[in-house]
Amino acid sequence: TKWVYHFGAGAADGSAALRDLLGGKGANLAEMAALGLPVPPGFTITTEVCTHFYANGKTYPADLEAEVEAALTRLGEIAGHAFGETNWPLLVSVRSGARASMPGMMDTVLNLGLNDETVEALAKIARNERFAYDSYRRFIEMYSTVVLGLEHHEFEDALEAYKAARGQTLDTELTAEDWRKVAALFKEIVEKATSRPFPQDARQQLWGAIGAVFSSWMNARAIIYRQLHNIPENWGTAVTVQAMVFGNMDDQSATGVAFTRNPSTGARELYGEFLINAQGEDVVAGIRTPQSITEAARRAGGSERPSMEAALPQIFAEFRAIAQRLETHYRDMQDMEFTVERGRLWMLQTRAGKRTGPAALKIAVDLATEGLISREEAILRIDPLSLDQLLHPTIDPDAKPAILASGLPASPGAAAGEIVFDAAEAEKLAAAGRKVILVRVETSPEDIGGMHAAEGILTTRGGMTSHAAVVARGMGKPCVCGVGAIRVNYEEQSFSVAGRRFSKGDLITIDGSAGRVIAGAVTMRQPELTGEFAVLMGWADKARRMRVRANAETAADTRAARRFGAEGVGLARTEHMFFEGERIVAVREMILADDAAGRRAALAKLLPMQRADFQELFEIMSGLPVTIRLLDPPLHEFLPHSDTEIAEVARAMGADPAKLRQRARELSEFNPMLGFRGVRLAVAFPEIVEMQARAILEAAIAAAAVTGVAATVEIMVPLVFGRPELDFVRAQVAATAAAVTEETGLTPSYKVGTMIELPRACLRAGEIAQTAEFFSFGTNDLTQTALGVSRDDAGAFLGVYSQKGILPADPFVTIDQEGVGELVRLAATRARAERPGIKLGICGEHGGDPASIAFFESVGLDYISCSPFRVPIARLAAAQAAL
Ligand code: ADP
Ligand code: MG
Ligand code: MG
Repeated sequence: TKWVYHFGAGAADGSAALRDLLGGKGANLAEMAALGLPVPPGFTITTEVCTHFYANGKTYPADLEAEVEAALTRLGEIAGHAFGETNWPLLVSVRSGARASMPGMMDTVLNLGLNDETVEALAKIARNERFAYDSYRRFIEMYSTVVLGLEHHEFEDALEAYKAARGQTLDTELTAEDWRKVAALFKEIVEKATSRPFPQDARQQLWGAIGAVFSSWMNARAIIYRQLHNIPENWGTAVTVQAMVFGNMDDQSATGVAFTRNPSTGARELYGEFLINAQGEDVVAGIRTPQSITEAARRAGGSERPSMEAALPQIFAEFRAIAQRLETHYRDMQDMEFTVERGRLWMLQTRAGKRTGPAALKIAVDLATEGLISREEAILRIDPLSLDQLLHPTIDPDAKPAILASGLPASPGAAAGEIVFDAAEAEKLAAAGRKVILVRVETSPEDIGGMHAAEGILTTRGGMTSHAAVVARGMGKPCVCGVGAIRVNYEEQSFSVAGRRFSKGDLITIDGSAGRVIAGAVTMRQPELTGEFAVLMGWADKARRMRVRANAETAADTRAARRFGAEGVGLARTEHMFFEGERIVAVREMILADDAAGRRAALAKLLPMQRADFQELFEIMSGLPVTIRLLDPPLHEFLPHSDTEIAEVARAMGADPAKLRQRARELSEFNPMLGFRGVRLAVAFPEIVEMQARAILEAAIAAAAVTGVAATVEIMVPLVFGRPELDFVRAQVAATAAAVTEETGLTPSYKVGTMIELPRACLRAGEIAQTAEFFSFGTNDLTQTALGVSRDDAGAFLGVYSQKGILPADPFVTIDQEGVGELVRLAATRARAERPGIKLGICGEHGGDPASIAFFESVGLDYISCSPFRVPIARLAAAQAAL
């Protein structure tokens, strides 16, 4: 096996295609080197070494050392001086890089190879002693925290104390002599903490750093990040060792990061930040506020400090050309890191840039329009779940909110919540159902859990590429960064701004699209579904085969569903209307009645209400099919509990409360989900079907009279386990339809179908299809009944199942293909054999889950139905599944 891949001087062993082996960073460095771009030479130790490392008690393959030595020799040849050489030291960075980018998760060591001797040599060669000792103290701190396990604050406190003792405040005030003393101080700290002198041997340093990078694959931050992003543990990280270039040598040196397009809006403009005379992480760490790359961005931001375009015009022109070339080469927006050493540009990284949901859409549509990618690729490039961000509310412009302060619009969307200053606290409050805004001076990888739990994030320091900004965009959380006007006081758990004080628990709103912070909770506005969203959705609609409907019954939900592009209602749950207003009393009357006559009296009160609801539904969905499910839930759920509730029903019925209480007791169930519900209600109380069928058919006639279009009515019978139940209900519906025809002289057309949600129904699907004109798989109940797992009680053990790797995913979120999926497939096959062309759909939660949607495409279902806000996600996922 080849463990080490070289790159540099216009050539490379690897390429971008070897991402799995070299990690994203290593693969793209190889690709850039092979393209002839200016990349400092180096080599990448493969992810297979990481796998070997963990499989063999943290040891390396036997021949690794020899390969690393050979690679170091080659590096020395290209650079013209060797690693470990004392009079002209070759310094390197040791960088981690996994297959999937894990920003800030793994640790990088810069300036490796410095020691008491080489630092002097570096000072001579650079003719800059201050630079040499500044680099050395940085190296000691980085190496000691990453490799030796010391804490940053141990060094930072010492530096602060050093400066304070001399009345210095800024790092720039420190002289060469100061940095020399600080470096010595740092070495003492290390020696005290580890009982050993700071390692002086370059090779010992190198192997220490390599080991630390591999070990960091299993650090707590990396593990959490992988869990949040579904990155498998066994992928491993690669290690890249690369010759150092220095952005901190002088005023013709700089370091920066840039995107080929704006990662927040997707606009086609070079977008980035840089710092003169600085090294690597200074830009992202948010220690100094960086300058804009382009003049346009500087002007827009109102900054006085020169852009790179103005300060280093030649470098800027070269960089812009490279950025353009990389975007065309990779056919995607790139996120690049670069360093300028004494007027010479070096590329240090490129990767597909993380972007917000709106930016992803704009970029995909623009790239397709520019001809760089096809429309199919554009469709495939959008993570359907990211559309969720676009569907989020924004601040109502008419709300005229009082702006407290402004910062950078780091991640779009608006959010309101209680102020919290601590990530752990944010997690705790969110778990208790509270909405919080996490307010920090800056965030670090330890805060990930809290960022995830918060509605939005606000930081007072850092730029568009700071940790908070990058992570928030990845999570799709609103974020405002660098709000310098806010002064946070962690001790008092408060912040002050514009002469006002806000404490933990106070409400604020942040607007991540505009970078605004507002006092209190502001009214929000629903999103616009136009522009690139509409264009991409149009392409997706052409590409998909399955239809997308919505699960909706209220007028508001149904209207939203239609706005989001639903092609009908796949599931209207009639009982959701039963709890509204006065209705529950009538429903209880019906349930508690002694006989059919009593039930009919109560049902007669419900009929006009149901009819009005259904008519509205048909009118909103005019021209599109509407599936209405007959009464499904256990009667148990409607039973009155308190004495007041019983008295209320007794009064309405003119019945004896004691008798009613007795009847309620009789009807209460031990296991209602497997009890008196679904079609069983229809079989026991056919008059319920009669009332509901009448309400549906009369509503259809009335709606047609209003809209001029015949309603497409689908009556769905829940929870059948065999054909006889369905035959019975179908006959009831037919009799009611005949009666309606006789009364009105009109013959409304309708279909009767069933919800398939019991394993026995899947097995008997052929026979059921003889009667049913359509099936809709109720995958929520089917999952419960196939796995024998109650969804309401699964919380106690399903989490443990996924932690222990027994279930790959929550089966209530992503369909269990092997079990539940197999039942769906079998039922579809049997139904089609009996009734070719039978319409098959699904209406469980899985209808809005992209992974499940891909499975339903493979089964060839005709449509999926999901909650209204999931409709765009389902439309896109269905297109991706079809491509
Ligand atoms: P991350 O994955 O956290 O971005 P990187 O490996 O990219 O970590 O390194 C962090 C920073 O160090 C980057 O900003 C990069 O510019 C800088 N850096 C890495 N290697 C070198 C090098 N050989 N010369 C100069 N700067 C470097
Ligand atoms: Mg990087
Ligand atoms: Mg069900």
